[in-house]
Amino acid sequence: MSTPNLAWYSHEICFWHDPGPGSGYVPVGPGVEPLRQFAVDPDLRRAEGLVKASGVMDRYTEVTPVPASDEDLLLVHVPEHIDRVEATSAMGAGDAGVYAHVNYHSARAARLAVGACVQATTSVLEGQFDRAYCLVRPPGHHAEPDRAMALCLYNNVAVAARAAQRRGVQRVLIVDWDVHHGNGIQRTFYEDPDVLYISIHQEGLFPAASGLVMETGSGAGTGTTLNVPLPAGSGHEAYLAAVSRLVEPAARAFDPGLILVAAGVDASGHDPMGRMMCTSRTFHDMTSMMCRLAEELTEGKIVFAHEGGYSAWYQPMLVLGTATAIAGLPTPEDPFLHSLEHLPGQRLRPLQSRVIEHLESHHPLLAQGR
Ligand code: ZN
Repeated sequence: MSTPNLAWYSHEICFWHDPGPGSGYVPVGPGVEPLRQFAVDPDLRRAEGLVKASGVMDRYTEVTPVPASDEDLLLVHVPEHIDRVEATSAMGAGDAGVYAHVNYHSARAARLAVGACVQATTSVLEGQFDRAYCLVRPPGHHAEPDRAMALCLYNNVAVAARAAQRRGVQRVLIVDWDVHHGNGIQRTFYEDPDVLYISIHQEGLFPAASGLVMETGSGAGTGTTLNVPLPAGSGHEAYLAAVSRLVEPAARAFDPGLILVAAGVDASGHDPMGRMMCTSRTFHDMTSMMCRLAEELTEGKIVFAHEGGYSAWYQPMLVLGTATAIAGLPTPEDPFLHSLEHLPGQRLRPLQSRVIEHLESHHPLLAQGR
C-alpha cells in the first residue's frame, strides 16, 4: 500500500478523565501525599500536540467519536458494571472497581474511548479508512466484563473486537504490547476460538500471576490465547523477536480478518510503572511489522488503541513513534534515545530467548506446524 488512508480518533473529554488526588496509582490516604494519579492527561494531550507539531497529523483524517451506546458496552460488560461506572462518576469521585478511580467526566470519557475504538473498527471494516489510531483514555485492557480495574473502566479493545464480530468478521487478532497483562481482554475471549489474544508483557508485573505461558485458552478457545511474559529488563531486540517469531507465525496460522492492537507505551525504558527498556524505535518497528502483517492477512485492516503510558516526558515521543509507523514514515528524531539505546538490555539475552523458544515449541498454534 503506497499511501494508506489514515484516521485519528480522539476526544477532548477523554483528556478530562481524572482519577483524582493521589500519588502514582494510589489515592490520597495514610502515607500518600497529594500529587496526581497516573492517567491524568495533560500528558496525552501533549502526545497529540507532538504528533501535530511534527506534521505527522497532516497524514491523518481527525475524527471525533461519539460515546458508545449501552448496546456496544453490553457486548462485553454486564449491566451492573455499567451502572456502577455511571453512578460513581455522577458522584464526582470514588472507585468504580479495583483501583479504578473516577471524576465527574470519567463515565463519558470511558464511553468515548470505547466509541472511538468501535467507530474506528467499523470505518476500517467498511473501507472508509485503511488504518486507524485511537488516542483514548481511560485505558481498557484490565477491565473485566463485571468490574473496572487498574485505571480501566470499559474494555475498549474487547468491545471493538466484539463489534467486529457483530459485523460478520469471522476471526479477530488482538495484539497487546502494554507492559502489563491484559487480563480483561484475556478473560473476555478465553473460550472464544475466533479471537486470538496475544499479550507481550513484563513477567509477573500486574495483575499478579496473570498472563502465564501455560494460559493458552480453554474449551473451544484452547490455543487462541498466547502469553509472552518477558523478564524485566527486556528491550528492543526481545520485543522485535517476540513479534517476528511468535506474533507473526501465530497470526498466519490463525488467519484473522482484522487486527486490533492494544498499543500501550508503558514498556518504555523511561516508564515508572514497568521495568522494560523499549524506545520510540521499538514501538515504531513493532507497529510497522503489524501494518505489514495486516497487508498480508487482513487486506491492511488494522486499528491501534492507546492503553498505558506514564512517563510524562517520554510518552509523547512513543506515541509519535507509533503514529509515524502507521503513516508509513521513518522513525522520528528522538532526543531521548541516547539515554536508552546503548544499554545492554536492548540486545536479546538468553533469558528472554528461552521464553520465546519455549512458546515456539509448546504453544498449540505454533507447535502444530513444527
Ligand atoms: Zn499498562
